[in-house]
Amino acid sequence: MHLSLYRKFRPDRFEGIVRQEHVVRILTSQIEKNAVGHAYLFTGPRGTGKTSIARIFARAVNCEHPENGSPCGKCASCRAIAEGSLDISEIDAASNNGVAEMRELREKVQYPPVSGRYKVYIVDEVHMLTDSAFNALLKTLEEPPAHAIFILATTEPQKIPATILSRCMRLDFKLIPEEDLEKHLKSVLDAIGKEYEEEAVAAIARAGAGSDRDMLSIAEACIVYSDKLTYDTVCAVLGAADFGRTADLAEAMLTADMPRAVQCTESILAEGKSAGVLLKDLLDLLGQLTVAKTCRTAERILALPAHLFARVKEIAGKIDGRIILRATEILIRTENELRFVSSPRISLEAAILRVSYPEADRDPEALMARIANLERKLTELAAAPAPQAASPAAKETQEPQEAPRPQTERAAPSAPQEDPADGYEFPTEEPVFEEAYYADEPARPKAQERPLTASVPPMSVVTASEEGSPFAAQPAAAPVSAPVNAPASEDADRIYARFMRELRKTPKSGALFTMCSDLAPSFEGTKFVLSTQSETILTILGRETHRKAMTEVLAGLGVSDYEVRLQKKGTEPRDAVAELKKNFKDYPIEIK
Ligand SMILES: [Zn+2]
Repeated sequence: MHLSLYRKFRPDRFEGIVRQEHVVRILTSQIEKNAVGHAYLFTGPRGTGKTSIARIFARAVNCEHPENGSPCGKCASCRAIAEGSLDISEIDAASNNGVAEMRELREKVQYPPVSGRYKVYIVDEVHMLTDSAFNALLKTLEEPPAHAIFILATTEPQKIPATILSRCMRLDFKLIPEEDLEKHLKSVLDAIGKEYEEEAVAAIARAGAGSDRDMLSIAEACIVYSDKLTYDTVCAVLGAADFGRTADLAEAMLTADMPRAVQCTESILAEGKSAGVLLKDLLDLLGQLTVAKTCRTAERILALPAHLFARVKEIAGKIDGRIILRATEILIRTENELRFVSSPRISLEAAILRVSYPEADRDPEALMARIANLERKLTELAAAPAPQAASPAAKETQEPQEAPRPQTERAAPSAPQEDPADGYEFPTEEPVFEEAYYADEPARPKAQERPLTASVPPMSVVTASEEGSPFAAQPAAAPVSAPVNAPASEDADRIYARFMRELRKTPKSGALFTMCSDLAPSFEGTKFVLSTQSETILTILGRETHRKAMTEVLAGLGVSDYEVRLQKKGTEPRDAVAELKKNFKDYPIEIK
């Protein structure tokens, strides 16, 4: 018969329990003093040892010669229980939630124990009992026979009626720390003679998330694959992404390489990984990057195989901590949203785009991310003659920022060393990129004078609609007949600005907004042309849902004919400098 690892290695003495010393101490001392209670409530997360301790306790109270509070396993009572004594009953409330079972229990409990001193009833998942079953149980707890002990176990103590709670001694079980899980897993693997990699054990313990049972069942799924338990096996079993591809995605996203970030996302999701899992993988990786950036003992804390750690270190070396922090914040927010949205994939894509495209964002963190990215590009440019030298050089300039604080705790990723805004001043009359989408007309006096074509509502309407409903000021059916004059480029800019504004107000258009925010508008006759230099954006905007949304918004602005097209431009690395100069006109920028 196949026994699961968890059942096979279920401890039969208190010494074998992983953690929960505070519970064990109380119970063993009661046994030694011969002062056990009649009713206990064991609460805590699943897999933390509630049932295991309940069983040991049930045998120990009946044992003739308990050793340090644990059952001896040799006396008549211990042997009788091992053969299946009626003195210990386990009831799974999840499957016996009826009042009938509790009434039956109430009758049976009156009969004295067969072989030992106590009859012990272990009621697992007790919160599942119905109200009338709780009432029946309460009657028993109110007048328990001297030989009865009740151990009620639950993961949800808040669902237990106060009348029951007040009659129980409550013991809270805690999540088991990873170190203890690792230690336990190693002892189990040693016992079954299985070789293992340290990283594999660490990964399984991490996946166990505080539960011994969960950890052992993951381990069990992993060990059947090969003679030796390897990290790669564990990753494969856990469905953890191919680490390298998640790393590529994170790198693209954090270096603001949007087209690559979109491609990586598409290809990972196309293989069937769910958006939620990819998001979790990304958050894990961001946490690792933070640790790699801030902790001297990162290698030991992360316990990754050497080549994976090298990759984490490489990415962490070239990304500013503030960018990692911003990305983490955006993704955590998305993680919360993901539970409530009908299409998690779109939310995830929007979040990834937001991270990779801080230009579309107006908050200070996004600005910091832009500046940090421009700084990085500058450093790379400075090292341009020898491209290979670029990365070490970038690393060097980062080095002083790494906080030399020793951090030994395996803590959640801590924030970078200081408040991101510290030490930076923004020009107050800013931001240039806002002008492109939201600038209001006063900045362009000429445009304001120009009479608009029939297809475009007058300018005053734009200003009026600023506060109110997006479409309130629009004519119900905007005339879309041919304009008298061909629209000029100012009109294209203005319509584009209004298009972006409307898009921003449209619910769930985050991804679309981000992708549209870098288009160049123009008119060809009456056709509104939006040009992009990115094939990826062209492809994505061509999708049915995006097309439909854009068509709708544009129709609201009186534009019935539009096209998104590809525009090639042959500039590249120098753009970074140009952009920096453009965005910070008042600051002298020199390229060394
Ligand atoms: Zn015994």
